[in-house]
Amino acid sequence: MSMFDLSERAEKYRGQLLEFMDSHIYPAEAVYDEQMRAAGDPHFQPPILEELKAEAQRRGLWNLFHPYPEWGPGLTNLEYAPLAEIMGRSHLAPEACNCNAPDTGNMEVLTLFGTDEHKEKYLKPLLAGTIRSAFAMTEPAVASSDATNIELSMVRDGDEYVLNGRKWFASNALHPHCKVLIVMGKTDPEAAPHRQQSMMVVPIDAPGITVLRGLPVFGYQDREGHAEIDFDNVRVPVKDVLKGEGEGFAISQARLGPGRIHHCMRAIGMAERALELMCRRASSRITFGKPVAANANIQDWIAEARIDIEMIRLLTLKAAYLMDTVGNKEARTEIAAIKVAAPNIALKIVDRAIQVHGGAGVTDDFPLAMAWAHLRTLRLADGPDEVHKRTIARQELRRYRDEKAGN
Ligand SMILES: Cc1cc2nc3c(=O)[nH]c(=O)nc-3n(C[C@H](O)[C@H](O)[C@H](O)COP(=O)(O)OP(=O)(O)OC[C@H]3O[C@@H](n4cnc5c(N)ncnc54)[C@H](O)[C@@H]3O)c2cc1C
Repeated sequence: MSMFDLSERAEKYRGQLLEFMDSHIYPAEAVYDEQMRAAGDPHFQPPILEELKAEAQRRGLWNLFHPYPEWGPGLTNLEYAPLAEIMGRSHLAPEACNCNAPDTGNMEVLTLFGTDEHKEKYLKPLLAGTIRSAFAMTEPAVASSDATNIELSMVRDGDEYVLNGRKWFASNALHPHCKVLIVMGKTDPEAAPHRQQSMMVVPIDAPGITVLRGLPVFGYQDREGHAEIDFDNVRVPVKDVLKGEGEGFAISQARLGPGRIHHCMRAIGMAERALELMCRRASSRITFGKPVAANANIQDWIAEARIDIEMIRLLTLKAAYLMDTVGNKEARTEIAAIKVAAPNIALKIVDRAIQVHGGAGVTDDFPLAMAWAHLRTLRLADGPDEVHKRTIARQELRRYRDEKAGN
């Protein structure tokens, strides 16, 4: 089978997912807005979302992301790519199908490195969609795009570690169902740079944890919330260290590969929807005696959007194919490349779609303004563009390392 063929089971899920989007997800968007407005609380869990979750589960459109067959359908990255793209078309679909970040990454970490107790207490309810989780790595005090800087202190005291420090941007920590944090911190400041950090499973209601605030994103309070969290003498049993002391860096590498490409797949879905909205709007509005779509510059934007989407989709599929065939580590250049390309290109398309909508484009009557805000954060979340470009450039330069000047 080539990279371009969809397997039979992926084709089946694709058809079912498209049907679910039309019959349930898109019609739910207005209901969601209404329920959120009525609640007046940005972190409210609206009943419509729970209804969508039940319906997705009933249809078997649940945990499609999970690569391990004992916990989900066990799709490959290549099979999951078109499905994540479809879910990316609406901000409701990922959580409705239990395929939303950061829970997916946390579920993978607990599957790979969690104890039986972690699996029972957290992984199973996460897979059932009854609880949520957050990943707390980034810190306000240090440049966290270099994970070796992470400094929340984790000091061993008998059978426990004592945690002190400050995290921020812990997405999902304000979700009313959030029960658990995966926290990265420093257990050994004397060890080699990539062995200083560890990751621990910490209940969000552990004594000493204070969620200080939800950080706004371009003025939006996202429903799941991006929390600033204080850790004041939080005691964590040694058994809750994931994989072992000093393994934090290795786990974060394992966690971020799939998470990054999932974001890219969903970004393509957003770009497709923006192009669709752009074409509809440009065809239906008349200025100076002709449809907006009749102007050459608008057609140029539409054509460029189609070309760009096809390019990023192919690069995403290539990265997914390599992850499946040679592994996440070997695919790191392609993962880094698509992590830069997909959000930037999707942003350009959404921006042009906003322009074609005129004032309506920046309101919440269309999903474009929210999509723009979300995509803009993707140029930072899971590593800023510059750090991924650094990965690619180092890889390219390695080939020339041993060449002498003038050779
Ligand atoms: C909406 C949102 C959600 C997030 N969710 C989470 C989450 O759930 N959990 C979590 O732990 N974190 C989360 N983050 C944090 C995110 O991962 C960090 O913001 C990111 O890794 C950058 O770290 P920093 O903010 O400390 O920036 P810094 O490390 O201070 O970097 C600042 C800037 O410096 C530049 N830079 C850095 N290195 C280089 C280089 N080598 N060359 C050139 N320029 C460079 C880049 O432009 C970078 O943006 C989230 C962020 C956002 C915006």
